[in-house]
Amino acid sequence: MSRFWLSILPQVLFVFATTGVLWAAANAAAAFAFLSLSMLVPLLWMLRNLSRIDSWLDSPTVENIPEASGLWEGVFSRLRRMVKQRNLSERQMEIRLHDLQQAIAALPDGIVILDAGAHIEWCNPMAEEYFGLDGRRDFGQQISYLVRQPLFVEYLAEDQTDLPCILRMGNDRILSIQIIPYADNKKLLLARDITRIENVERMRRDFVANVSHELRTPLTVVNGFLETLSDMGASADPEMMKRSLDLMSGQTDRMKRLVEDLLTLSKLENVENMLAEEEVNVPMLVRQIHQDAISLSGNHRIELSIETDAGLRGNMEELRSGFGNLVSNAVRYTPEGGKISLTWKLQDGNAVFSVKDSGIGIEKEHIPRLTERFYRVDRSRSRGTGGTGLGLAIVKHVLGRHSARLEIESEFGKGSTFSAIFPPSRVIADMGDTIR
Ligand code: ADP
Repeated sequence: MSRFWLSILPQVLFVFATTGVLWAAANAAAAFAFLSLSMLVPLLWMLRNLSRIDSWLDSPTVENIPEASGLWEGVFSRLRRMVKQRNLSERQMEIRLHDLQQAIAALPDGIVILDAGAHIEWCNPMAEEYFGLDGRRDFGQQISYLVRQPLFVEYLAEDQTDLPCILRMGNDRILSIQIIPYADNKKLLLARDITRIENVERMRRDFVANVSHELRTPLTVVNGFLETLSDMGASADPEMMKRSLDLMSGQTDRMKRLVEDLLTLSKLENVENMLAEEEVNVPMLVRQIHQDAISLSGNHRIELSIETDAGLRGNMEELRSGFGNLVSNAVRYTPEGGKISLTWKLQDGNAVFSVKDSGIGIEKEHIPRLTERFYRVDRSRSRGTGGTGLGLAIVKHVLGRHSARLEIESEFGKGSTFSAIFPPSRVIADMGDTIR
């Protein structure tokens, strides 16, 4: 027998026993009246509590659960426990759902949940940004009404979605989209921004094409001379032979310089190649570079002004290569008789190495692109003076490794100033060098 029936058994037995005693001691009417009254009172009590439950169901909170005594006390307290337990699990579910939503929202990828008909059910902020969606406003909208690129619409309609679809968005962003079916015909749309990866890949392709192009011309020239000389055999004119060998040597020098610059760049770009720091005596370094410039130059006036004996925390050989490139450019892009000034100075706490020339100058639109690999304003002048197109790319990397920046000022036809600006954190106040 259940606990419930056991608990009311004594009362039931009492009522029946009393009814029997009344019947025997008095009469049947008295016994019946007692029995009816004994059943009516609990019935009314039960109905009252039923009505309280009925009103509680209108607002079924823990606080509203009615109080009662006797049999109903147990029922109501079990109800209270159940409601509390349910509230607790609901709260825990809510927290978990909220955590999950926050985790999905924080993903760097865009995520859109689509129903069987490709209507938007939910999306994270990244997807809103990628596709210009508004999670609330666009809820229930067909995604293909909002993302209209034909490639995307086609991809959405396909069953075969194992491979991602690459989309170029209006703002130059490149997205890799993948649709993953799940549950009952639902779809999870993942969008990843691959702009950077694609750009790196494009730069790699351009770079290989540029290097091949740069090497092909001198190789073709050398090859041509070799074929001619081999055809001529012993009958070759010694004068012509000498001229051919000189020209071939010029071309191989060009290839050698290109390979050397490529190796320098690759070393500078290698993230594992940490900057080997030392205290660099810049005044001394700049004096050596000045001497090199004089021997490199044909007929330029090359001035040197060392205004500080400050040095730099950095790498001597890298700085020599960076500064040397700026100076050799000034010599190569300044006509004979022009003036070049090298300056080492402190300016607002920064240390500045600048090279000013009275050369051909650069038109404004080229300036932002000068440090790109193989970017040249005037191809024939660059090649004619032995340029590889990599000098300023090397300068940019060297300066980047020294937390420094390159500033270029130029006026077309009048000259240019290239300044390497080092932050105070790199400056060593006094190298004990004598300023001249
Ligand atoms: P290059 O080997 O062609 O000189 P760089 O990377 O050193 O390659 O320079 C890129 C381009 O910047 C050059 O081709 C040239 O057009 C321009 N340039 C660099 N320095 C100067 C300068 N001092 N005066 C004028 N143009 C310059």
